Amino acid sequence: MDQQREKIDFDVLFVGGGPACLSGAIKLMQLAKKDNISIEVALIEKGAEIGSHALSGAVLNPIALQELIPDFIEKGCPVEKVVKGDEFVFLAKTGYFKVPFTPRQMHNKGFYIISLSKFTKWLGEIALELGINIFPGFAGKEVLYDDNGKTVTGIRTGDKGLGKDGAPKGNFEPGIDLMAKVTVFGEGARGSLMQDLAKKLDIYSGKMPQVYETGIKEVIQLPENNYFSSSDANDIHTLGYPLGFDTPGGGFIYEMKDNKVTVGFLAGLSYDDPMFDLYDEFIKFKSHPFVAQIIKDGKVLQQGARTVSTGGYYTMPKLFVNGALFTGGAAAFQNTPALKGIHVSMKSGMLAAEAVIKAFEENSFNAETLSYFQTLFDKSPIKEEMLEGRNFAQALGRKGLIKFVHLGAQYFTKGRGIIDGMNTEEDCTTLKPLKAGGETATTETKKITFDGTLYVDKLTGVYLSKTMHREDQPCHLIVRDTDICVNECYEKFKSPCTRFCPGDVYAIETDEKTGKRKLKLNFSNCLHCKTCDIKDPYRNIKWTCPEGGEGPGYTMV
Ligand SMILES: Cc1cc2nc3c(=O)[nH]c(=O)nc-3n(C[C@H](O)[C@H](O)[C@H](O)COP(=O)(O)OP(=O)(O)OC[C@H]3O[C@@H](n4cnc5c(N)ncnc54)[C@H](O)[C@@H]3O)c2cc1C
Ligand code: SF4
Repeated sequence: MDQQREKIDFDVLFVGGGPACLSGAIKLMQLAKKDNISIEVALIEKGAEIGSHALSGAVLNPIALQELIPDFIEKGCPVEKVVKGDEFVFLAKTGYFKVPFTPRQMHNKGFYIISLSKFTKWLGEIALELGINIFPGFAGKEVLYDDNGKTVTGIRTGDKGLGKDGAPKGNFEPGIDLMAKVTVFGEGARGSLMQDLAKKLDIYSGKMPQVYETGIKEVIQLPENNYFSSSDANDIHTLGYPLGFDTPGGGFIYEMKDNKVTVGFLAGLSYDDPMFDLYDEFIKFKSHPFVAQIIKDGKVLQQGARTVSTGGYYTMPKLFVNGALFTGGAAAFQNTPALKGIHVSMKSGMLAAEAVIKAFEENSFNAETLSYFQTLFDKSPIKEEMLEGRNFAQALGRKGLIKFVHLGAQYFTKGRGIIDGMNTEEDCTTLKPLKAGGETATTETKKITFDGTLYVDKLTGVYLSKTMHREDQPCHLIVRDTDICVNECYEKFKSPCTRFCPGDVYAIETDEKTGKRKLKLNFSNCLHCKTCDIKDPYRNIKWTCPEGGEGPGYTMV
């Protein structure tokens, strides 16, 4: 198989078609043109199209976009709405009150409400016009190194056309080796290549564990006369119900154009109840009277899920190695108190581009030359933003009311707070074993009737995400030891994967004759959110890229 493998050489390869890499690639071409440097740039994306795996809130702070494409409006940037006012609402079980002030980091008036799938698609078109070679439908499956294993030389894309047993079928196409002087990784939260690379090159030494949240989002069509026809705010955030104080997270509701609305809910993966089901919490959130009045008479058009890395500054990996740079959510670029990662990811890609140009000017691509990326970041305003949120997610993950003392102290000390360098446990270690008979958490949701229009069940949600995978291929979810699943994990935690997965991928079945339990994987439902790779208490699940061009088919989330 290896003998047939094609090898293509580029100067620079971007891995991932999100805001980080797209902005990086655009900036690189702009700089190369300005400096008269001839450079061959490629970008790969595992989704079938640029944008088909992109999911975000999304309120965009336009600061990086204004720098990258000053005439973005004239160039047709797909803006949904301008934020006309912010609202911060505390939800009790049935009532609610509007918090009289909105934290300064969440003042979004004048920012843009966008759909990340539409926005990245548009950025992709601009990148194409600049001459970047864009390869959607290609998943980076393996990082390539030089002979001494210390320099990244490119990536290998996944083989296509393998059967379930891993043997090539008639339509088999071996993956391609995409070689580059510099590879820029921008895979988003929990990048699978970066996870592998970290085992070889020590990029997390001395760093704090990453903190994650998973979000479920829907775009809902509203009737013409709706809540936003007369509201002052079209950027609404909620806290409180259904999570209470111990689990970080909350809801967001943003107005979109043509009488559509974004409704989403995020929860921190530091939760400790094995019976917790994010999907149930999302439905409870939607059913709360405050939210229900906004989405009344609506119809869900699209749904999806994705994790976001919220750990911030102290969780950032080393940003450069020989032959490679790390950008965006994969490298923890995120302003967590502001709930914003798009503009910092864009800017991280743009700074990476500047470092790459310098490397070409010096004709040197080793870690020392590429460390200029770190120098640029250290001087950049996004570092200041990130420093302000350096202990935020860690404080939010504290149990009980003490978290508000920490958060308050951080608010008034620009992020330092009471403990600077606040540590956390890894999200996979926080589940508490169930006590006998303790499986109660989902009873409340069971009362909700899914009407199939405004309240849809998990499987309908998967359908509305337009997710598809060819069934006859090796399963991209690697479960190390299924005995652990059906014995230890089932006994101790009642198989939390059957609840934390928003795609309903995991199921435990019992053989009627033998009474033996078996793990069943409906991998074709996978939304590529990566929650299972993070939250599994036995680190038993490894998420890998399936054959490129599969997964969700997002167009508006
Ligand atoms: C529910 C939710 C709400 C959010 N709300 C907001 C908000 O309102 N405002 C805001 O600013 N930020 C928000 N964020 C955060 C923001 O979306 C991220 O910070 C941002 O998208 C990160 O950009 P990125 O380019 O690093 O990664 P991503 O946007 O995740 O893009 C990475 C891309 O790389 C592709 N990819 C991954 N691995 C591979 C591979 N091996 N080979 C090929 N392609 C690959 C993926 O398919 C994807 O298209 C939110 C996030 C979530 C989940
Ligand atoms: S299998 Fe994992 S990545 Fe796929 S939808 Fe479920 S939790 Fe998300």
